[in-house]
Amino acid sequence: MTTASPAAASAHRPGLGLVRRVYVPRLLGLGLGGLAVGAALAQHGLLALLWPVLAFHALLWPHLAYRWARRAAQPRRAEFRNLLADAFGGGFWLSAMAFNLLPCVLIATMLSMNNIAVGGVRLFARGLMAMALGTITGGALLGWRLEPESTLVTVAACIPFLVSYPLVIGIVTFRLSRRLAQQKAQLRELVQFDALTGLLNKSHWHAQLEAEFARWRRSGRPVALMVLDLDHFKRVNDTHGHPAGDAVLRHFTQLLRGLVREVDVAGRIGGEEFGVIVHDAGPETAHQLAHRLRRQLALLPAPVGDGLHVTVSIGIASPGNWHDGAAHWLADADAALYSAKRDGRDTVRLAPRRQRQAA
Ligand code: GH3
Ligand code: MG
Ligand code: MG
Repeated sequence: MTTASPAAASAHRPGLGLVRRVYVPRLLGLGLGGLAVGAALAQHGLLALLWPVLAFHALLWPHLAYRWARRAAQPRRAEFRNLLADAFGGGFWLSAMAFNLLPCVLIATMLSMNNIAVGGVRLFARGLMAMALGTITGGALLGWRLEPESTLVTVAACIPFLVSYPLVIGIVTFRLSRRLAQQKAQLRELVQFDALTGLLNKSHWHAQLEAEFARWRRSGRPVALMVLDLDHFKRVNDTHGHPAGDAVLRHFTQLLRGLVREVDVAGRIGGEEFGVIVHDAGPETAHQLAHRLRRQLALLPAPVGDGLHVTVSIGIASPGNWHDGAAHWLADADAALYSAKRDGRDTVRLAPRRQRQAA
């Protein structure tokens, strides 16, 4: 038997977040709205008749709505239905209050604001229809009266709702937009960085390489490109398993991070293949760095099994006027890497300098 985790359950029932977000504003809105409606009903002599309905709507309904929507197979749809029920209830109170101007405008406005915020123009329009239906129901049951004047007591009873509800909506909106900004930043990270090693991923590293080549063409400042490939990595996976292979990749990345500087740009450009743009470095400097890295990796046992020793082969190329673009530069570094592999691995090779090809 399989049991779904809460996270998996919420992933399959979209809208649970919405249900939670709507709960407190509804609790407050209907509670304080109920106060305004109660005052208006008292003004029109209907409170004695309608207080049980009002108490149910203002105090009990928000909890019932929350429970229903949370337990629904489709919480989002259930919450939309609840919002339409809110609108219907609001409409009912409009005619019950004999269209007492201030509480009516307040309730209709707040309900509409809610519906627009949650479901856009479509829910707003459906909410207006539900409200109209509620108004007609109220009029049909209680009779049609038009007494728009609000007494001072009714006006005073509207003030808590008028003041606090927009503040609560403001807080909810602020939290939502802050979360959105955080998610956007996370998404940007996910898109740019490789999840296993935290290095730049292939496409973003390539973009950096293009930019670097263009910069070198403009400024001529020395820069070197290193391409690194772990040796016989397939064997690591085959012998110790894929998770151990992942641990070796992280181990190598840690070592790499420790040796290159902040300004250098490291990326994972293949399964067990890495690229580093080494700034302000001629081929000799890059060669020394590569040797140091190769030596340290060979000496330091990886946290796998009883301490596995992995090795790396490295190809280095500097940009030259014979390169017609970054891809060409990278191809030279790749060729140097393959000659390192051919020469027995665990070694570093420099791409030969060439002459510009005649046009
Ligand atoms: P060579 O010395 O010629 O580079 O040999 P190699 O075995 O390292 O090269 P090969 O290209 O044959 O194998 C690379 C292996 O890397 C195969 C693939 O399963 C493994 N690999 C690629 N990505 C990952 C990863 O994210 N995690 C793990 N554990 N293994 C990976
Ligand atoms: Mg390899
Ligand atoms: Mg490879």
